[in-house]
Amino acid sequence: MANAPVTVTITGAAGNIGYSLLFRIAEGTVFGPDTPVNLRLLEIPPAMNAAKGVAMELADSAFDTLYDVDIFDDANKAFEGANLALLVGAMPRKKGMERADLMEANGGIFGPQGKAINDNAADDVKIVVVGNPANTNALIAANAAPDIPNERFTAMMRLDHTRAISQLAAKVGARNEDIRKMVVWGNHSADQYPDVSYATVGGKPAASLVDESWLSDEFRPRVAKRGAEIIEVRGASSAASAASGAIAQSRDWVQGTPEGDFTTIGLYSDGSHYGVPEGIVFGFPGVAKNGAWEVVDGLKVSAATRAGIDANVKALLEEREIITSLGLL
Ligand code: NDP
Repeated sequence: MANAPVTVTITGAAGNIGYSLLFRIAEGTVFGPDTPVNLRLLEIPPAMNAAKGVAMELADSAFDTLYDVDIFDDANKAFEGANLALLVGAMPRKKGMERADLMEANGGIFGPQGKAINDNAADDVKIVVVGNPANTNALIAANAAPDIPNERFTAMMRLDHTRAISQLAAKVGARNEDIRKMVVWGNHSADQYPDVSYATVGGKPAASLVDESWLSDEFRPRVAKRGAEIIEVRGASSAASAASGAIAQSRDWVQGTPEGDFTTIGLYSDGSHYGVPEGIVFGFPGVAKNGAWEVVDGLKVSAATRAGIDANVKALLEEREIITSLGLL
């Protein structure tokens, strides 16, 4: 193989998202056909056998690009040498659980994992947080990793982004590939603000093809609540599409975003973009170049977009207050 192997660590590897994610990474979707991959799977002890079964299936697939698969229940070992870390495993919300309970449970997972990444991963490690609440889990992990630049801890906003593209394409009768410059501002939650203000469809402004009532009554709520719609129809939460989002976000980070387009990236805010304060992980329009994300600046912000951004800032600051009061930050 032309390139040196890369190491990818996946947490919650035996879960539903992991099951879709692993095979596509093993097949070369993120790093390309000339880069072999070593997979390191992290699971909790009760799921070790399930992870072993997945590793057996990976072996049976005999992918040219898959060199090694190792399984761990110890985060320090699992993140050793990781170039890409996909943090998927998280505590699901159980009946009667308040938001603060969920954050406390997940803080207990993402804080130690951030530290384990800090202490053991490769210098160039890239982190994609999928487990919910993804933005705030990414913040907790980043805070526990003082030696790693904060902007390397990204939250997965890519599925929200592709959901928005798909809804717009269906509405105007276009193909996904015709749509450019979509953005979903803010939090991977029902607060998110899917925004077609800059989007084009075959080069035409999307806003000229749809009316405001469709945007406010159908598009935005549907994109934001798509996860619940999938659960209702499928009887289980989205897993393959979440894996697709994590793959697309990772692939663009490694290989670069296409020229002339941008995507949505959940990025640690340094306080210099669109009035979003420092110290929250926020969905921004972004491009990846030479292995790093950059926020696309200079977009004209309408009053509606401003209100959408501000509502998400408020929601994420509230989440930050909760984790601060719990001593997780
Ligand atoms: P999934 O693989 O279906 O989901 C994992 C996480 O991804 C959840 O937090 C889920 O959030 C989140 N997620 C983000 N975006 C989406 C989306 N669009 N659709 C659906 N989920 C999304 O969960 P499973 O329960 O199947 O698997 C989790 C695995 O993690 C298990 O194997 C378990 O053993 C492991 N685990 C590991 C822990 C650790 O590493 N310490 C701790 C807890 C579990 P949401 O819950 O909001 O749907």
